[in-house]
Amino acid sequence: MALSIISIFRRHGRQYIKDLRKAAIPEGFRGRPVISADISPEEEKIAVTVCPAGAICTGPFTLDLGKCEFCIECSFATAGKIRFTNDHRMATNLRESLFIKTGIDNPICTDPELTRKEIHSYFRHALKLRQVSAGGDNSAEMELNAAGNVNFDMGRYGIEFVASPRHADGIVITGPVNANMAEALQICYEAVPSPKIVILAGTAAISGGIFKDSPVVDRKFVENITPDLYVPGNPPHPLTFINGILDLIRKK
Ligand code: SF4
Repeated sequence: MALSIISIFRRHGRQYIKDLRKAAIPEGFRGRPVISADISPEEEKIAVTVCPAGAICTGPFTLDLGKCEFCIECSFATAGKIRFTNDHRMATNLRESLFIKTGIDNPICTDPELTRKEIHSYFRHALKLRQVSAGGDNSAEMELNAAGNVNFDMGRYGIEFVASPRHADGIVITGPVNANMAEALQICYEAVPSPKIVILAGTAAISGGIFKDSPVVDRKFVENITPDLYVPGNPPHPLTFINGILDLIRKK
């Protein structure tokens, strides 16, 4: 019996990703975009036109990762002048850091100066989170689930999802926040003991995404708080989520 278990373990090999801080995602992943410095005004106009999410604007030409659906239509329409790299490190505590400008190829990061002091002092070794799906389509939720699986295993850093907001240090919001969930979200937030953190995970949570103008979306809660972390992606990758949280709770 013991021998057969050992042989199964051997066949499976190592399941977990050894170092999540250095892990890379293969080419083909749609991560942080780079806008070529030689993009022409005509190509800029085409990119604005094809973007279904209103994530691109001119004057100056800017791609807002908080609105981007990562469909890469703008990349096709500009012959690759807008290129999506495989850089998954896109989480930040500064909304403006998600505005990608022409010719800029810098990593997106968290600014420790903007992080509330209690976040470093209380949560750097353990962080329990309550996830609230507020009108989500289950894509971001599935990726957040994956963050705790045997491969990503965010529990190794003391980061876990818990069932009750009473046991949580903060909430992770997914989805555009529909009216049906607005009150539930407010109640959940109030049930979390202070100090608490708020994380917006995915394009829909950060900006409402393609649903932002829908009459059934109610984003008053999100508009009245200052989120501690924005995790872009549609859906966000577990590595974006985990590394974003680690950058937030641990001073580099
Ligand atoms: S990838 Fe983002 S910016 Fe480009 S067209 Fe799609 S939604 Fe718009």
